[in-house]
Amino acid sequence: MLVLNDPQAVQSQTSQWKKQGSIAFVPTMGSLHEGHLSLIRTIKQRADVVVLSVYVNPTQFGPSEDFDSYPRDLTQDSDLCIAEGVDYMFTPETSDIYPKGPGTWVEVADLSHRLEGASRAGHFRGVATIVLKLLNIIRPDLLALGQKDAQQVVVLRRMARDLMLDVEIVVGSTIREDDGLALSSRNAKLTPEQRQAAAAIFQALELAQQALGDGTTDPVALISVVQERIEQEPLLQVDYISVAKPDDLEPVDGPIEQGALLLVAVFAGEIRLLDNIVLVP
Ligand code: AMP
Repeated sequence: MLVLNDPQAVQSQTSQWKKQGSIAFVPTMGSLHEGHLSLIRTIKQRADVVVLSVYVNPTQFGPSEDFDSYPRDLTQDSDLCIAEGVDYMFTPETSDIYPKGPGTWVEVADLSHRLEGASRAGHFRGVATIVLKLLNIIRPDLLALGQKDAQQVVVLRRMARDLMLDVEIVVGSTIREDDGLALSSRNAKLTPEQRQAAAAIFQALELAQQALGDGTTDPVALISVVQERIEQEPLLQVDYISVAKPDDLEPVDGPIEQGALLLVAVFAGEIRLLDNIVLVP
């Protein structure tokens, strides 16, 4: 595996890589876990060359968010990438990605301001901007994203469509701990007590799915089921719970239809945890 950090050098090599076949790209912020590795495994079946980036992008963090304390472990990341057969690891520096500071932004209208966007102003502007930059550097055929960050998938799909990007988005399913907690690099920051409480998040989503299966098709009632379960854990605070349409994340206001998403964001202390499921009526 080659580790590269100069965007210009990468950009000048991708036409060579293209000669080996199709290129798949997995953007990450590092501190890799089974969720990332499962994305690599999924995408590797579809492409000849796999490129994974590790870059903690400052422009998607708000001023009071955890950019400085975000977990970083490049040595372990590189070992894991080697073991998974990643061909190129791209680890750029901010001075090369934003040489003159952030200038041009990609703003995906409306969608970016709901849910995560409402709680984290500017977050998706940062995400869309960095992902477009990375796509322009690497020029992959396939872009691998995790369903764990469902809104990110919807925002980036819209960006790809609106800007006519020639890339296919492949979505990998959410990988969970044995007790259901969705894997996240931020889980490492939970205290043992918070970690234990955090299992309630997925339990709450499952309870809602169960209620739907039992005939509760009203989104408001399902949201209450989730809220009640999470509120039983004093160490967790709900930020939002939403039942939303999968293509634009508008709230569902009638009976649940196939494909509707149930999304939650929860705080355990300062640590923000996200999860979602696709509801099956
Ligand atoms: P991150 O490093 O958190 O920016 O995540 C990089 C990619 O991995 C994103 O597309 C995430 O959605 C995906 N990802 C993160 N956690 C998981 C998980 N538990 N299961 C599947 N994909 C994940």
